[in-house]
Amino acid sequence: MAETDPQEILAQARRYAEDLMLFEGRHFIVPEEVVLQASGLGEKEGFTSEEISAAEPAGRESVVASDEGLTLDAFREEICTCTRCPLGATRNQFVFGSGDPNAGIMFVGEAPGADEDQSGLPFVGAAGQLLTKIIEAMGLSREEVYICNILKCRPPGNRDPQPEEIAQCEPYLKRQIDLVQPRVLCTLGRFAAQTLLRSDLTMGRLRQSEHRYEGIPLVATYHPAALLRNPQWKRPTWEDIKKVRRLYDGVAL
Ligand code: SF4
Repeated sequence: MAETDPQEILAQARRYAEDLMLFEGRHFIVPEEVVLQASGLGEKEGFTSEEISAAEPAGRESVVASDEGLTLDAFREEICTCTRCPLGATRNQFVFGSGDPNAGIMFVGEAPGADEDQSGLPFVGAAGQLLTKIIEAMGLSREEVYICNILKCRPPGNRDPQPEEIAQCEPYLKRQIDLVQPRVLCTLGRFAAQTLLRSDLTMGRLRQSEHRYEGIPLVATYHPAALLRNPQWKRPTWEDIKKVRRLYDGVAL
């Protein structure tokens, strides 16, 4: 058996300790005074009450009308054998998404990796486990949110998705969003944010701004895989995640 580098063991222990401090056993609770202010949303920095209510399902009826009668499961069945782009020929499993079909929060990553390609489920590898901790730190479970990716099939070798693959697959994501009708979207990683926002700004710049996708407030934060490599980004990620939770709760930022 190969010897494990003591430095790597130490680094792993540090990463684990940081996870414990940042994402484990730490549940985001909206302070009472903030909840009380919620009825008078709008005069603070960030999304106003009008913006938040504009993202409510009632405000997007026209978008959803074309999906009348279609369930998320039925949509999955409809597209699970897709070969619209070359990734349909190389995937092991089609990775549609998982979670509550009526979730208030929808996380959107880039594309399935090797673990996801094998299991058919999104975010199940090491990065997925960290995402689970983040969700639990918000006071929610994976079953209470919805998790998916822009691409439904794994790019070989985890290479970056190609523009034509995105062009073919993004309409599926748009339809998923229409069906779930989340109150807030949270993109994970630069690629997902840049794709949905049609932007070439850096992750750092994207995090500093408020965004919308199809009228829905969107918070851009780091991908959990990037957090595994750069633990110093966990603190800013936690700040982003608190924004997501506040938008979910309908509390002004
Ligand atoms: S990545 Fe999307 S468009 Fe390409 S084959 Fe898979 S489901 Fe179809």
